[in-house]
Amino acid sequence: MADLLALSSGIIDSGDVDTPTNRVTQELSEVGDGIAVVESFSHSVALRTDDGLVVFDASSPFTGAAVVDALRAWSTDPVDSLVYTHGHLDHVGGSPAFVADAEGRGDKRPRFIAHDAVPARFARYRDTDGYNSHINNRQFGGIGATKLRIGGDRAHHFLPDDTAAPDVTYETHLALNVGGTDIELHHGRGETDDHTWSWIPSHRAIACGDFLIWNYPNAGNPQKVQRYPAEWAACLRQMAALEPELLLPAHGLPIEGKERIARVFDDVATTLEDLVARVVGLMNDGVTLDEIVHSVHVPDETLAKPYLRPMYDEPEFVVRNIWRLYGGWWDGNPARLKPAPDSAIANEVATLAGGAAVLARRATETAEAGGLRLACQLVEWAGDAAPDDRDIHAVRQQLYERRRTAETSLMAKGIFAAAARDSAPIVDG
Ligand SMILES: [Zn+2]
Repeated sequence: MADLLALSSGIIDSGDVDTPTNRVTQELSEVGDGIAVVESFSHSVALRTDDGLVVFDASSPFTGAAVVDALRAWSTDPVDSLVYTHGHLDHVGGSPAFVADAEGRGDKRPRFIAHDAVPARFARYRDTDGYNSHINNRQFGGIGATKLRIGGDRAHHFLPDDTAAPDVTYETHLALNVGGTDIELHHGRGETDDHTWSWIPSHRAIACGDFLIWNYPNAGNPQKVQRYPAEWAACLRQMAALEPELLLPAHGLPIEGKERIARVFDDVATTLEDLVARVVGLMNDGVTLDEIVHSVHVPDETLAKPYLRPMYDEPEFVVRNIWRLYGGWWDGNPARLKPAPDSAIANEVATLAGGAAVLARRATETAEAGGLRLACQLVEWAGDAAPDDRDIHAVRQQLYERRRTAETSLMAKGIFAAAARDSAPIVDG
């Protein structure tokens, strides 16, 4: 059993960024009297009550069974309730393992509790099954995350058919009492529209789901639906106002101590509030998305904090998401309102340049000089103008591999790795 609270205190207090914080060990650690965390993808947080366990999050389809095993080595009490902090696959996909555990032990089936919008999310996942499998292979395919295999082996569908639907849903608040222990569920939008954070007054603890992920907030994911950075920050402020002594996120390390938790909440809320204010301010001034993307940055010292590093999502994507939330999809460039097809633009540019090979050569030179953003545009035109050209796709493949290496966020790495992979069959003939 790891001392996760000492680990997180040390990391936060020293600013250490070398010690891993998002650990998928499948191990359970006790973090309070009758409170435990199983570190997984996502974690499950378990709370002992006189009527059995209350569990926050079921982990993923691929980790649910291991999480249940870890939990059972700690407690043989039935699971009375399982709260989904939100409907993402890595928080709900392990639910069949909890149902099977109850059946195997002769316990009653756990009561699954979630926000009202979770069933709508499940319906959307069924409607967009193919799309979600594609994007998750891309998102998690960039860093060799094979053990996560979202949308992979076990699940025929992105959301497995046996995922437990919520038995109880709520709109804004839900007051639970399980075996004498009060638990207050609160809805808030942030990473998703269906998020729940839970206050456990007897422990002065908050199970916050993905409102803290020990990475820069996932408020900009380029391949997924709208996120809500301003409301995310507002929820962090609400949680901070309760002065919790123990914070239990679904990814990363639990945190103890009122001041330490307040500092983390404030840092995360402040960077989101800053980004929203600056982007919306520029939108009000009539500035285009292009100018905003290239002028609004988060200070390096913010991104250097161990719980705000841009290793999963990143601020540039959050900026785009803020534009989409308050504006529309059009970026302000009239040529891109009703543009010519990419292939037509690529062929025209290639003709002007003197051929696709010239563009590819220029892409390499530009990359050598450090201009990876521009180099990728040049090589895209080259590849689109000569879709079957092995030499050009060899340049494209190398360039995107280089781009992937240069990026920090899993989301950027994943998309650039997928681009490199797309050229591989042409290179290999
Ligand atoms: Zn998550």
